[in-house]
Amino acid sequence: MTTRRGFLKTAAIAALSTSVIGKALALSNEHPNLFNVGHLGEKPKMKLTFFPYELQLRHVFTVATYSRSTTPDVQVELTYDGITGYGEASMPPYLANELGTIDSVCAFLARAAIELEKFNDPFMLEDILAHIDSMDEGNAAGKAAIDIALHDLVGKLMNQPWYRIWGLDPAKTPDTTFTIGIDTPDVVREKTKECVDLYNILKVKVGRDNDKEMIETIRSVTDLPIAVDANQGWKDRQYAIDMIHWLHEHGIVMVEQPMPKEQIDDIAWVTENSPLPIFADESIQRLRDVSSMKGVVHGINIKLMKCTGMREAWKMVTTARSLGMKVMVGCMTETSCACSAAAQFSPAVDFADLDGNLLIANDRFEGMTVVKGKITLSDRPGIGLRKL
Ligand SMILES: [Mg+2]
Repeated sequence: MTTRRGFLKTAAIAALSTSVIGKALALSNEHPNLFNVGHLGEKPKMKLTFFPYELQLRHVFTVATYSRSTTPDVQVELTYDGITGYGEASMPPYLANELGTIDSVCAFLARAAIELEKFNDPFMLEDILAHIDSMDEGNAAGKAAIDIALHDLVGKLMNQPWYRIWGLDPAKTPDTTFTIGIDTPDVVREKTKECVDLYNILKVKVGRDNDKEMIETIRSVTDLPIAVDANQGWKDRQYAIDMIHWLHEHGIVMVEQPMPKEQIDDIAWVTENSPLPIFADESIQRLRDVSSMKGVVHGINIKLMKCTGMREAWKMVTTARSLGMKVMVGCMTETSCACSAAAQFSPAVDFADLDGNLLIANDRFEGMTVVKGKITLSDRPGIGLRKL
């Protein structure tokens, strides 16, 4: 029996090897240097280029402290052996400490371009990205731009989209939430009417004194599920839990960052007593933060710009799952480049908030799309982009 099992195993490996070698040979004809690195003369090098690109918002974005109609952004291209991967750094000004600014990210990318020339094998994702990360404490968005471009490049070299490389089923992508901005009841009612046929779940920013009015206005138009984001807005835990019970009775399905990140004990108390799943956003930035949030919240919101990109995001997904935690994916205002990169692991999340590319008027790419409210992945390789 052992011998027969051994034979079957060997035969299976042999069959697999033949098909892998066949594909490798087929691919090596397209990209002759890929499988000959180190054998034939000059090794190809990775070349990083970048340029600032101001995102034009479709609608003025207003929060309590300021309004803005643009978002600073840097577009990145990483070329190796004639193939180009695309990446992006989006830097909303209120997150400058974590993500960086146009100036700091461009200075970081200029240094990184020199470092990247030391690597001649883009498949060494772990080594390359650990080295890039070690260059600087901050500039998470600049790191994410390199990470996204490198993933796009490697996926293209393998001729596979990342959701396939990660082993995820594209049919399992979630619906994305679409945010209804805070406004007067008349405007909110109109905006909600425009959304009800396009989306299956809405998102509302709460944590102000008009929370109930906003929800009741939307409820006068639709029964669609609603996710709420308090953005640390509730300072008192009893007030927070009373609001969450009220929201639960009004068809809200999840709550993001109910209280300030410093109030960890209060957030844990709210989570313990909440009828709705509680997610951390401001409380969490990178992989190192995930395990400390177990027992504090039910789940985490992963954003590529905060966590330095797809490599770390995927580790955060698997770490959170191993701890029995829920996962959501979010984004900044960004083009279809970064949104499509984040969408690659969306089949593995519980909630998705990937509407960043829908908010801008000057997208450079077509990639992930939203069809009847559901995230829909393209079958193009890498992160699935087509340049517009
Ligand atoms: Mg949030």
